[in-house]
Amino acid sequence: MIVKEMIMKPVKNWGNNMFDKLFERKKKISVIVPCYNEQESLPFFDEEFHKVVEQMTQYDFELIYVDDGSRDSTLEEIKRLEQKRVYVRYLSFSRNFGKEAAMYAGFKNSTGDYVAVMDADLQDPPSILPDMVAILEEQDFDSVATRRVNRKGEPPIRSFFARVFYKLINKISDADIVDGARDYRLMKREMVDVIVEMGERNRFSKGIFGWIGFRTYWYQYENKERAAGETKWSFWKLFKYSIEGIVNFSQVPLYLSSWLGIICTGLSVIAIIFIVVRKLIMGDPVQGWASTICVVIFIGGVQLFGLGIMGQYVGRTYLESKRRPHYIARETSDDKIEKIG
Ligand code: UDP
Ligand code: MG
Repeated sequence: MIVKEMIMKPVKNWGNNMFDKLFERKKKISVIVPCYNEQESLPFFDEEFHKVVEQMTQYDFELIYVDDGSRDSTLEEIKRLEQKRVYVRYLSFSRNFGKEAAMYAGFKNSTGDYVAVMDADLQDPPSILPDMVAILEEQDFDSVATRRVNRKGEPPIRSFFARVFYKLINKISDADIVDGARDYRLMKREMVDVIVEMGERNRFSKGIFGWIGFRTYWYQYENKERAAGETKWSFWKLFKYSIEGIVNFSQVPLYLSSWLGIICTGLSVIAIIFIVVRKLIMGDPVQGWASTICVVIFIGGVQLFGLGIMGQYVGRTYLESKRRPHYIARETSDDKIEKIG
């Protein structure tokens, strides 16, 4: 056995080296860009991105635009770019499925050794991509994630609630979610495969990235304002997104409602004893209607609150159990891209 290995090894290595030299395969970088009504930003994005492609000639590129059911001429713009650049691929959703679904569709259909996701509005500057790739190549990390060091240009109320949200979710969940983290990141193939494997329907990527672990390098940069167009996130949308994050990655609200129930039960036992003893000692003057109503309303409110929390979890279980696709595409640039996934 040993003898065989000794003989085989050099031959095998020689074969590999020759193969590598002759048909040297460049590593491929896939970049996913979710776009929702981004007709104004796309030309700027294309220009910036192309500079990076020209700079990094030692890599192959694949740029996947995911049109998330835009209502403006984003798709036409994407098609124009596909004609212009050889590395562009795209898929266009049948309706607006949200950025999470768009990222999922991109990950699922990406073929690169490294996969990045970035916004179309240049808030995630393509120009730092070479640095990010260098970190993955030279150091022992599986992904490079980005983080804003400030929230310049954001409404103060929004930053305030964002901070509260990050504090809260890190206290109550397993997933390590970093304040100021953006969705902009570059990952190795292995990590992307795991993310696609996480088939949950209600997706909260910031949580998923944190939950699956792996070694992440945090790259910091100053917040940039949008190149063109406007933000797709209203306060209400962000609020719903944060509830998604909490319910998906923590069961603490459920415990909380049980604890609230236990505390209320305890308090009411004390109150009952007090009332009975008072009646036995002092007789029963008809009194206390107001306080009775207060207690009834209070308990009713607590019960509804608890039920509401349970409803959040049950509703999500219901949606997950239907196993509906994450996205449906109406159009794709090539047949290798799955239309339903
Ligand atoms: N986006 C999307 N679907 C949506 C909302 C947003 O694909 O339903 C995309 C959008 O086109 C952009 C990225 O997600 O490329 C980030 O959106 P935006 O810039 O509005 O968010 P912000 O940077 O303000 O957090
Ligand atoms: Mg933006």
